[in-house]
Amino acid sequence: MNILILGGGGREHALAWAVLQNPKCDRLIVAPGNAGIAQIATCAALDIEDCGAVATFAEANAVDLVIVGPEAPLAAGVADRLRAAGIPVLGPSAAAARLESSKRFTKEVCDACGAPTASYAHFTDADAARAHVRAKGAPIVIKADGLAAGKGVVVATTSAEAEAAIDSMFSGDFGAAGAEVVIEEFMEGEEASFFVLCDGTDVLPIGSAQDHKRAGEGDTGPNTGGMGAYSPAPVLTPDITRQVIAEIVEPVVAEMARRGTPYQGVLYVGLMIQEGRARLVEFNARFGDPEAQVLMMRLGAQALDLMQAAAEGRLGAMRVNWAADHALTVVMAARGYPGAYEKGGEIRGLEHLPETAAEICFHAGTLRRDGRFVANGGRVLNFTARGDTLAEARARAYAMADAVDWPGGFYRRDIGWRALSE
Ligand code: ATP
Repeated sequence: MNILILGGGGREHALAWAVLQNPKCDRLIVAPGNAGIAQIATCAALDIEDCGAVATFAEANAVDLVIVGPEAPLAAGVADRLRAAGIPVLGPSAAAARLESSKRFTKEVCDACGAPTASYAHFTDADAARAHVRAKGAPIVIKADGLAAGKGVVVATTSAEAEAAIDSMFSGDFGAAGAEVVIEEFMEGEEASFFVLCDGTDVLPIGSAQDHKRAGEGDTGPNTGGMGAYSPAPVLTPDITRQVIAEIVEPVVAEMARRGTPYQGVLYVGLMIQEGRARLVEFNARFGDPEAQVLMMRLGAQALDLMQAAAEGRLGAMRVNWAADHALTVVMAARGYPGAYEKGGEIRGLEHLPETAAEICFHAGTLRRDGRFVANGGRVLNFTARGDTLAEARARAYAMADAVDWPGGFYRRDIGWRALSE
């Protein structure tokens, strides 16, 4: 099989690694890829949000399966274009990807099928939104309707903070994403993520994870794209998992099919869990980053068979072969991230890291210059390891992180603390 992966972060390095574990893969191209991916696959310079260019490239390279990493190409319609050309693709149509790209749309789908989530109201007018906040009080959650790269959500602890967020969103700070605002009830509890493959009709759970959004230890400091993750998430007990599938995943997938926009791809189900029950926080239409790193490490070679079956509409016949193991990833980022940071610093010691089925350093933002690796992004390396226990996986991941010499980088030392203290 010839496979094309779209994206160039740690998530895509992990997807590439898993795909290459499977002997079915004859040729792997990643666009645009990064310096770590270039060590294991062919990287191609391609504008992945140009749907026509992606389809032409896939046809020219006789690609049998396209795996879409990030959300922007999905929202642009890359999966529609590929399907129209008869190329199997793991990723929803632009219409189905609205489960990520419009928060109001997701709420409407949940209402239509009774999926549990926070109560909400939506507004296109700042005065009405402010009046709603004054009536409801704080804490309350203010969200720009559209994609805002994780920055369009304010969990306001006071009404003044909520009103300031409303003013900022309607003043155009979030562009078109903020033309409509969703205001939600604040949910208390513990967050976890659940991942399912969908082929439009059938669903197949492929694991759970918890990530660490804040830059600082003890979950302090600014929000980031994610500083580490582990799988499985112990808070998602078998009972809660059954509830999530029966009350959220299956009804939403059935509702999407009923609307004529079947969901085909990976569905990332963000959950808030309290007193033994889960409610939906958000959907994403793709794998999370860094959650994909731990999921791929646990699934290994079978990930390709499962993703291919989802893309080809034959998920009903598939089963996951689970190992009773754990995986954990530690993100090394450039000092200053998620604020301003420097690029170009040399990273030493990567060539001495172990590379086994139990420990790998996935690259997120690296570049190769004169044979040396240099930092080229905010989140730069993902030290990812498996173990029979989470503690073992964590020790392996940190041993790798500690062996790398990059004065311009930092990482949290407490990834996994919540699960390890339970
Ligand atoms: P991301 O880019 O991180 O996926 P997003 O912009 O899609 O974020 P959400 O996931 O909806 O936004 O919200 C971001 C975070 O805000 C959640 O992970 C959660 O911690 C918090 N949050 C969102 N909605 C609620 C809610 N109703 N109650 C409590 N916390 C919430």
